[in-house]
Amino acid sequence: MHATADVLVVGAGSAGCCAAIAAREAGAESVVLLERYGFPGGTSTQMLDTFYGFFTPGEAPRKVVGGLPDRVIDALDAAGAVFLRPNTYGAGTGVNYNPERLKLVWDELLAAAGVRVLLHATLVGVDEDESGRLSGAVIWTKQGFRRIVARRFIDASGDADLCHLAGVPYERAGEHEPAQTLTTTFRLSNVDLGAYERAGGKKLLMQAMATAVERGTHALPRKSGSLHAMNAAGCVSTVAVRVADVDATDFEQLGEAEREGRRQAFVYERFLRECVPGFGEANIIGLSHQIGVRETRRVFGEYRLTREDCLGVARFDDRVLLCGAPIEDHRPASGGGEETAWAYVPGGAAYDVPYRTLVPRGRDEMWVAGRCFSATHDAHASCRSMAQTMAMGQAAGTAVALSLRQHCGAREVPVANLQSALRSRGAVLEMPVQRARTGRDDWRRNRE
Ligand SMILES: Cc1cc2nc3c(=O)[nH]c(=O)nc-3n(C[C@H](O)[C@H](O)[C@H](O)COP(=O)(O)OP(=O)(O)OC[C@H]3O[C@@H](n4cnc5c(N)ncnc54)[C@H](O)[C@@H]3O)c2cc1C
Repeated sequence: MHATADVLVVGAGSAGCCAAIAAREAGAESVVLLERYGFPGGTSTQMLDTFYGFFTPGEAPRKVVGGLPDRVIDALDAAGAVFLRPNTYGAGTGVNYNPERLKLVWDELLAAAGVRVLLHATLVGVDEDESGRLSGAVIWTKQGFRRIVARRFIDASGDADLCHLAGVPYERAGEHEPAQTLTTTFRLSNVDLGAYERAGGKKLLMQAMATAVERGTHALPRKSGSLHAMNAAGCVSTVAVRVADVDATDFEQLGEAEREGRRQAFVYERFLRECVPGFGEANIIGLSHQIGVRETRRVFGEYRLTREDCLGVARFDDRVLLCGAPIEDHRPASGGGEETAWAYVPGGAAYDVPYRTLVPRGRDEMWVAGRCFSATHDAHASCRSMAQTMAMGQAAGTAVALSLRQHCGAREVPVANLQSALRSRGAVLEMPVQRARTGRDDWRRNRE
């Protein structure tokens, strides 16, 4: 045996890091956080640089996530590594950050909370007691297999690996609606952003992409795609590559998608150099650590969030976070219609996300947080932004600590106590009346 813990969190993405920190801060004595790669953050540090979901989109934005996720941004802000990005690409104001700095911020927040982080350790199996309840996990490391014994478990692996191994039922992406596409993000240096903006900026980029696809001059996978300025001068980051019809839990398909994503990135580099002013001397300086996977397994929980809940602005007595992000469905060509389908929560509102979406159906020793939480394809396409995945982590971690303290199972956690614990730590559970400030340097003003 390698370790024993009150709580084992699988996956150190934005959800898992927040879950582990919240569990410790809410009183769990020993929390182990497992991560297969060599750094925390998951998608937040492997491939992205913008948190969406803090602010509702539209003319009168509201800040609908708070507490621990705010502290992550505050720490980035203290290092001068944050600015607000205007609402140009549909998801509302984003919080742009330096992803390399974020790795350090996660390290520091986890250490300060007293979480034991095991890097380069992959979950490969589970142990159960005679009643079928999870009692431990088997991990693979370069030293061989190791065993971790725990009393409570949070699956924040994105792919629901723990639930899969424990036999918890789930829906696989692509089972009903086409699975969302995959994207290798890439970063370019040596870009003259002034020349780009003067030549027409985003409008020109969209026209140039459409022309390249229609005339067949560059084999781009789609007519749209976005790029934006990074925290470093003369550098831009992209969400442009599109690899469709992949089951990302199939390692051979995923490997093929990695190769295709890299290939497409360099097609984009040539296109940008040749067709877009300001990019003549641009170079790819980084590809995402792995191809970005939007959805794989979505666990069946005590409740499943639906499209109707999102667009009908549902209210739930057991809400543990809010979400105002639109349904943003990156579709494969086989899905028909637009490349990315958008559906907005009406009136700039935010819907409630119930606690029951974090509890795998019928389980008492396990929670789920982040992109494998219990939702349909459409609801997931709205509620997967990182402000929400961090808020889910905060809620699941706090609930675990409560269940330990009150000697109860996940389904018996007293929701009123959970909500008051979340509120006392700054979580937002009611739609704010006050309009948020979304100017480039306004992060701090929203925190005053
Ligand atoms: C291309 C792309 C663009 C996106 N753009 C944005 C954006 O601009 N803004 C935004 O807010 N959201 C965006 N999203 C959505 C958002 O990034 C994700 O939904 C969110 O980051 C998921 O967080 P998570 O913690 O649930 O999962 P992940 O970030 O996937 O973290 C899971 C962690 O678990 C680890 N892990 C997995 N399996 C195991 C195992 N068996 N053992 C040990 N560790 C394991 C992984 O290495 C990873 O660190 C985007 C997603 C993609 C793919």
